[in-house]
Amino acid sequence: MSNTILQYFGNISRTVLTLSEGLAVTTSYLFRKPVTIQYPDRTPKPLAQMLPKRSRGILELDSDLCTGCTLCMKQCPIDCIDIEIVKDETTKLRSLSKFDINIGKCMFCGICVEACQAQALHHSNEFEGGMKDINRLTLKFINQPKPVAKLKKDEPIEAKPLGSLIRPLLQEPWTSGAGSQIPLITQTHPASPATTNESQSEKQAQTQQDTDK
Ligand code: SF4
Ligand code: SF4
Repeated sequence: MSNTILQYFGNISRTVLTLSEGLAVTTSYLFRKPVTIQYPDRTPKPLAQMLPKRSRGILELDSDLCTGCTLCMKQCPIDCIDIEIVKDETTKLRSLSKFDINIGKCMFCGICVEACQAQALHHSNEFEGGMKDINRLTLKFINQPKPVAKLKKDEPIEAKPLGSLIRPLLQEPWTSGAGSQIPLITQTHPASPATTNESQSEKQAQTQQDTDK
């Protein structure tokens, strides 16, 4: 009988002891500086500006530097990048008519960035890419055909501020030239009558030339 009573009160004292140990740990956090921040509206500056420079944010393209070699598209293991080149048959000039990146699929591996020798493609520090419309996850960097860059060897490359190229695409709805909204997935880049789509073999030959340079 006396053993049962002792066991009963022993259990109570152990319960009180373990409970107070747990509460002591919890209470100590009341007096420590918080290690968390109230995201997204109570940070001292936008979180993208607080990330390390080498953070792998959403990809951005500097179309002024893109040579249209399509290496990034070929290297992407899950086909996130879609590039189309048109060639003017008269002037033989090549133009980018489409450069889409599906950020809904992208796994931020950086393989395409490493493949880009022109430094036209890089990770930005932007990571908030939530869209109401799933079609807008395919970011379109080319609105109308643009001649590919012809970079000279040893020519210094002028880098644009990180994130400045991607931010408008994440904020603004895609609009046609006339300003009317059209779904991204149906956006097309019609080639002018004087241009034709390059065949796959032409693309590969050009890529090989660019690589050899
Ligand atoms: S970061 Fe990786 S997954 Fe994303 S587009 Fe580049 S190669 Fe593809
Ligand atoms: S690898 Fe670079 S230069 Fe070549 S198509 Fe891609 S972004 Fe343009």
